[in-house]
Amino acid sequence: MIPAALRPRAVGTWTVSLVHYADRDGVRGQHFADHDEHAGEPHPTAYFCWLLVGAAEVVLVDAGISPGRAAAAPGLRYRGSPVALLADAGVGADDVDRCVLTHLHYDHTGCVRELPRARLVVQRAELDYWTGPVAQRIRREHWLRTPADVEHVARAVAAGRGTALDGDADLAAGLSVHLVGGHTAGTQVVRVVTAAGPLVVASDASHFYENLEADRPGPLLHTTGLVHAAYDRVRELSAGGPGFLPGHDPGVLHRFPALPGSAGAVVRVA
Ligand SMILES: [Zn+2]
Repeated sequence: MIPAALRPRAVGTWTVSLVHYADRDGVRGQHFADHDEHAGEPHPTAYFCWLLVGAAEVVLVDAGISPGRAAAAPGLRYRGSPVALLADAGVGADDVDRCVLTHLHYDHTGCVRELPRARLVVQRAELDYWTGPVAQRIRREHWLRTPADVEHVARAVAAGRGTALDGDADLAAGLSVHLVGGHTAGTQVVRVVTAAGPLVVASDASHFYENLEADRPGPLLHTTGLVHAAYDRVRELSAGGPGFLPGHDPGVLHRFPALPGSAGAVVRVA
């Protein structure tokens, strides 16, 4: 049973909550690909999943970092697994009907195996990339994926418990996914209609607000041109609404002040 504070008031609109499961200190030079004279300045990173609650469905966007990988990640301040933090907020793992994976990096798939009922949604280009021969050869990317998570997604799709999409798709009234690529081979963003208008979960299509707003990609990317095109697409998809949610910007809580009554790691923003 989803807590009343997270349920939408009107059919066809959704509520959106952040699951803020970790933080890490960093510097600007790690997050922007261009030369930057401020490269040594502090630039903290936050880690999120997003919970979308509609009239008839509960959707988790991304699945965070697993406790095992978190324990081995230097400097990561881990508040708990996203599934455990959601349970603390009254949302059980088996309340999640669907899990949309924006991409298959380790910090977005870590708890995907802990969602017993969730149908998985991924882009075929993303799944093909990580299960295909090229990703194996690019050693600098090996740390970015957790093989057991990728295998789980591939098995779910093969068994009909997940869908590999070829591009944009409407998932439900007021909920759609959009293939943008750029950050990875098949990165997708999620557009969700809230009471305040359309909101886009950009995830790592824009790690920070500054990536999109200053047109400055981060260093981890698959195709530079598509990263810039993704910024345009996110802008277009979020027009008329309260904005977009970047993948790792701790500043998100200043732009989307938490609704009264929400506290802790699960924070309703729309
Ligand atoms: Zn990420």
